[in-house]
Amino acid sequence: MASNRQIKDLEDALIKRQEIIESNIEDSKDNIQKLKDMDCNDDLDFAEASSDSFTSEIIAVQQSAELTEIRIALKAIKSGTYGVCQMCDEDIAIGRLKAKPFAAYCTPCREIYEENNK
Ligand SMILES: [Zn+2]
Repeated sequence: MASNRQIKDLEDALIKRQEIIESNIEDSKDNIQKLKDMDCNDDLDFAEASSDSFTSEIIAVQQSAELTEIRIALKAIKSGTYGVCQMCDEDIAIGRLKAKPFAAYCTPCREIYEENNK
């Protein structure tokens, strides 16, 4: 079981990561909007601009998904259920939480989950 001190450190890491992602998403929204507002007369410019915009949108989608996981983890910290595997109710190893603070499953369950979602 993670100690309160360890959970506090992980909470800080989650909050920091949340802030970074929130500002990244804001930036990529701005970029997408700028690209959409841009007047593209040149075909080459347009191709370049739309591939940039595509990349930004993919990043935004991935980061939104991570943000959702971070928010769930932060809620779990507040309700005292943090660090417990959602599948088997065992404690998630602290090493795993340090590597991935928003982990919702322990390592064995994660492997089963990934196996089932291939
Ligand atoms: Zn588990």
